[in-house]
Amino acid sequence: MAGVKADPGRYRDTVPDTDVAAPAIAIDIRGVTKIFGSSESAVRALDAVDLGIRENEFFTLLGPSGCGKTTLLRLIAGFDHPNGGQIFLDGIDIAPLPPYRRPINTVFQNYALFPHMTVAGNIGFGLEMLGKPKAEVAERVDAMLRLVRMEALKDRRTSEISGGQQQRVALARALAPAPKVLLLDEPLSALDLKLRKEMQIELKRLQHETGITFVFVTHDQEEALTMSDRIAVMHDGHILQVGTPRDIYERPAERFVADFIGETNFLTGRAIEVGEGWATLELNGDRRVKAAVPDGFEPAGEVTVVVRPEHAVLADEGEQADLAGIIDNIIYVGTDSHVRVRLDDASLFTLRVQNVGADHAALDEGRRTGIRFRPGAARVLKD
Ligand code: ADP
Ligand code: MG
Repeated sequence: MAGVKADPGRYRDTVPDTDVAAPAIAIDIRGVTKIFGSSESAVRALDAVDLGIRENEFFTLLGPSGCGKTTLLRLIAGFDHPNGGQIFLDGIDIAPLPPYRRPINTVFQNYALFPHMTVAGNIGFGLEMLGKPKAEVAERVDAMLRLVRMEALKDRRTSEISGGQQQRVALARALAPAPKVLLLDEPLSALDLKLRKEMQIELKRLQHETGITFVFVTHDQEEALTMSDRIAVMHDGHILQVGTPRDIYERPAERFVADFIGETNFLTGRAIEVGEGWATLELNGDRRVKAAVPDGFEPAGEVTVVVRPEHAVLADEGEQADLAGIIDNIIYVGTDSHVRVRLDDASLFTLRVQNVGADHAALDEGRRTGIRFRPGAARVLKD
């Protein structure tokens, strides 16, 4: 097999890494296209996807249902084949390898455990199929039971344990052959909220302790933000943006990304002056703000501007403001209040105002107010 070396420099996050030596690329996805069906009924589930997933990283594919997440996992695992493009693992094209020859394992949403087998039997099953000696299987199963903290339940049938415990068994079984890469397709979606939070922490710990590259799929933006080293936001068979949770949340480059992740305000501005990575915009007539501009984008004329609710504050009386309007609605949510302002052009703008030490007298519905952006709050979007 030809050893084609992956080039880590091929992939750039929205904000380039500052560390000199970026970790090696483990999974290198180049121009991968997947089409289901033919002619008029064909679905382009993935359209020329390029992606580099690094060694030892907790990488998340995030996007709404139907955007192509499962399809991409299935291609990496080898359950299906791309119509175009290549997938390299450690620099080697894995196309000729059937799933069982790839050092990759998958945890499915429904766990797919054998209900009549014991916990230990399930964990050791794959190793036995690989023809490993009995003593080696037993030793490995014990290590996995310790890893997922299930030693006490090793002889229970998996039909007699809880959903969260089944999840741990599924993880232990997938980790038992010591794969290089673990693929996880919405593994927490069947769990209730409390258990889900617990398993999020558990998954992070397992990834950290094993050093295995995790490719995690979710449609839940909060889950992606809290768990991932990096996130790829997918939409309609495309990857729109790749970056750390902070990049994706604070520096969205496109409207879909800004809208899908967190709450946000969209404004329209007119580019007056454009520099390297910034632009001066005119908002609502004469008010001018400086806004950040995504890499490689040249704003011209009317542009969409995004401001997160927590990146704006109510202006004090007489203070220079970036926007103005009438307080329309206030929702108290404990730590902070969500203040909705009807701007002078009749559109709505939401601010998140911290309640600690806040001057509550200033928060009156129907009162006129200015809105001030924090430095760096305004960002131009590509579309
Ligand atoms: P996700 O996992 O993000 O919800 P999928 O990867 O399952 O999305 O699906 C992506 C698109 O491909 C969807 O439009 C889906 O209907 C379509 N698709 C997936 N698998 C098949 C299949 N076996 N046959 C036909 N269409 C499919
Ligand atoms: Mg899916």
